[in-house]
Amino acid sequence: MTKKIKTVKCDGGDKDLGHPHVYLSVSKEQKAVCPYCGKIFELKDKD
Ligand SMILES: [Zn+2]
Repeated sequence: MTKKIKTVKCDGGDKDLGHPHVYLSVSKEQKAVCPYCGKIFELKDKD
């Protein structure tokens, strides 16, 4: 089994109300939460 870890970037999303770019690691088992805006990233896995 290979563990898939993806790196996602969050910069706040919308144009002007952003924050510094942060990179978060997200895997199938582990969600990532942006420390700035609280956005949750999860891997969508379609087998
Ligand atoms: Zn964010």
